[in-house]
Amino acid sequence: MDNRDKYEVVIGLEIHAQMLTKSKAYASDANEFGSHPNTNVSVVSLGHPGTLPVMNKKTIENAIKLGLACHANIASDQYFARKNYFYPDLPKGYQITQDKTPICTGGYLVVKDDQGIYKNVGITRIHMEEDAGKSIHDVDLYDTLVDLNRAGVPLLEIVSEPDIRSSLEAYNYVTEVRKLVRYLDICDGNMEEGSLRCDANISVRLIGAKEFGTKVEVKNMNSIRNVQRAIEFEISRQIEVIETGGIVSQETRGFDALKGITISMRSKEAANDYRYFPEPDLQPIYVGQEHIEAIKQEMPALPRELYLKYTEQFGLSEYDATILVDNKHIALYFEEILLNTSHIKMAANFLMGEIKGYLNQRVLEITEFPLKPASIADLINLIEAGKVSYSVASSKIFPAMFENQGLSALELATELNVLQESDESSLVNYINQVIEGNPNEIQRYITGEKQLVGFLMGQLMKVSQGKADPKQANPLLRKMLDSLI
Ligand code: ADP
Ligand code: MG
Repeated sequence: MDNRDKYEVVIGLEIHAQMLTKSKAYASDANEFGSHPNTNVSVVSLGHPGTLPVMNKKTIENAIKLGLACHANIASDQYFARKNYFYPDLPKGYQITQDKTPICTGGYLVVKDDQGIYKNVGITRIHMEEDAGKSIHDVDLYDTLVDLNRAGVPLLEIVSEPDIRSSLEAYNYVTEVRKLVRYLDICDGNMEEGSLRCDANISVRLIGAKEFGTKVEVKNMNSIRNVQRAIEFEISRQIEVIETGGIVSQETRGFDALKGITISMRSKEAANDYRYFPEPDLQPIYVGQEHIEAIKQEMPALPRELYLKYTEQFGLSEYDATILVDNKHIALYFEEILLNTSHIKMAANFLMGEIKGYLNQRVLEITEFPLKPASIADLINLIEAGKVSYSVASSKIFPAMFENQGLSALELATELNVLQESDESSLVNYINQVIEGNPNEIQRYITGEKQLVGFLMGQLMKVSQGKADPKQANPLLRKMLDSLI
């Protein structure tokens, strides 16, 4: 029995993004992943008495960038708060965060729903805070080890409205956030290393119900796919509880990726009271409108804008546009090709076909691709001018470009002897060879099998070794064949 159809799923996500700053949020220790444990520390991040935090300006700029990208309001006065709790990896005994006064409020992101239709998911707030250290339970046999390199690393917390309606939408939303922080260069978006973390709040209610159901918060998903899996499991579990007469209890659960299940960690009754109060060691910070404007000017083109430009202005398919904007560096490379050619569709095809194929084969990123966008544009212009065919460009010239980066595409085509021939006398010469070489097919053509022109065209490309320009050769071939009838 499938009870799913009776229920509506409600999801809100809280995402923590570790910022790509040189130093920590309130201290000058290095913000660096993978350093030897407890080497990126100082008296501030160790919480020594009498030390004072100093605000890292970069964190505010990053928050503003993300806020602008999400169409959010940016608060002009930044207040900080202490969130108090005890944990071995939190030497100060509190985190500096923003409580009632987040830097960004009321934005949205555009995300695909299950039907592939774009919808807005509201962003409740984005605020700045600092990370705690890391307790490591699985290295030493007997003891828990503490690494404080992460203590004080700046974070952005992005809280969504409960607008998400399925696990796939959640998947798409996290993918969008990750893409955005990568485009903005404010977080590397690496979920496996924990620099992007997602907590999912999930509830279900009968379709038509006015109130939301009780939400459960699920933590510890280390990939976007696992966010989706955890939500799927949780939806089924909650519906099962309700259908068997139970009540969903408000709790925090963890995701076990091996078993694909969520497990209760703590109930809401046991929730901490964090005793938030204003951080006395940091003055409020004023962010002027001019400052926000200056940041806006510096922002790169964002994936959504590029997507709309590619589909609406350039007329590329949604599929092509999606692939092009998926990776910031692919999009940048594409933009650079277009600086030197106006043949957009062919540039897109060449990038997604030949170049991606080259990269995939060698497991390289586009940033490691040796050819300059301008020389790709050069080659595309040569194809469009009818000087070489696409297939010759792809199979002969492109592979030769890597060894001959000093040569232009035209010079290379000349050297390889692959320039298309469109002058009539050489084409006539090729066609005569085809007519002589295929007496049976010619006879059949004369007696009415007109479709053989395709085969004969193939023969023509063969005898010309791919150099005949099909646009010129095809009508000429038909004319000469018809004159035989
Ligand atoms: P809490 O006070 O427990 O932290 P919040 O109201 O701050 O809860 O919301 C935290 C997250 O949970 C937000 O992303 C919000 O959209 C989401 N959320 C709130 N209520 C629900 C619900 N009933 N079902 C699913 N998600 C919810
Ligand atoms: Mg909350």
